[in-house]
Amino acid sequence: MLYTDYDHPPYRPPSEAGSLLLRVTRGCPWNQCTFCSMYKDTSFERRPLDEIFQDIETARRIYGAGPRTVFIGDSNSLVLSPETLAKILGHLYEHFPTTERVTSYARSRTLCKKSIDELRLIRQAGLTRLHVGLETGNPELLKEIKKGATPEQMVEGCLRAKEAGFEVSLYVLAGIGGEEKWQQHADGTAAVLNQVDPHFIRIRTYVPTPYSPLWDSVQNGSFQLASAETILREQRRLVEWLNVTSQYLSVLQTIDKALDDLQQDTRYREVLEQKRYLTRL
Ligand code: SF4
Repeated sequence: MLYTDYDHPPYRPPSEAGSLLLRVTRGCPWNQCTFCSMYKDTSFERRPLDEIFQDIETARRIYGAGPRTVFIGDSNSLVLSPETLAKILGHLYEHFPTTERVTSYARSRTLCKKSIDELRLIRQAGLTRLHVGLETGNPELLKEIKKGATPEQMVEGCLRAKEAGFEVSLYVLAGIGGEEKWQQHADGTAAVLNQVDPHFIRIRTYVPTPYSPLWDSVQNGSFQLASAETILREQRRLVEWLNVTSQYLSVLQTIDKALDDLQQDTRYREVLEQKRYLTRL
């Protein structure tokens, strides 16, 4: 087999920058979130098992036994049956026996549909951490962005994953409430995070991307992007309400300092606003 035949997920979480990438599905089975353009031109498909096995063998030839961490994609590998995932993980560990961490994206709705026993089977086969896109915990915003899950389903799915032994990493989309709904975004998100108490909370800032419905709303003015100051206030409010043991790479002092800088330094504010304007071009 040629090395060029090796397929891999086109997207991975930033924390998986050093990981071996393995593709078990293509695209997103949901593909409706209004802020997301990642898989809009990719039809969802489950890859045949023999192709995945071949990729594992090719990766072993390319990288040796080196990689200690592996990310499997694309956007929701948990749609595969637990038995299929267990077979893939078995083949992976056979070829990379020193692997310490194997992670995947997972939708909370999919987690809700799996029994604890099914989730345990996948966990025991060696999938260790799940990256779950919460984006917001506010029910109205979740509907608006067509995330396809309620706050209650977000909580239930993540708690099931924790009960089955997974590490859970939850992603929050700063600014997804825009200028108008930043407070409810912060409050709803804190409420979900407090109930889940995930192992990791990761914040990404919303940047409009072409070929997504929300991009169109930004262009026609029906969605007003949150300013840098609003995002800082939103994050401050979120952190203030958090009552978790999670690792969270943001601190109140850092946010307060940035808010002070913004208020005292007009040039700094202008530069940030210019950057925001550039995202609309
Ligand atoms: S954000 Fe995730 S679940 Fe939503 S459409 Fe994009 S890849 Fe699919």
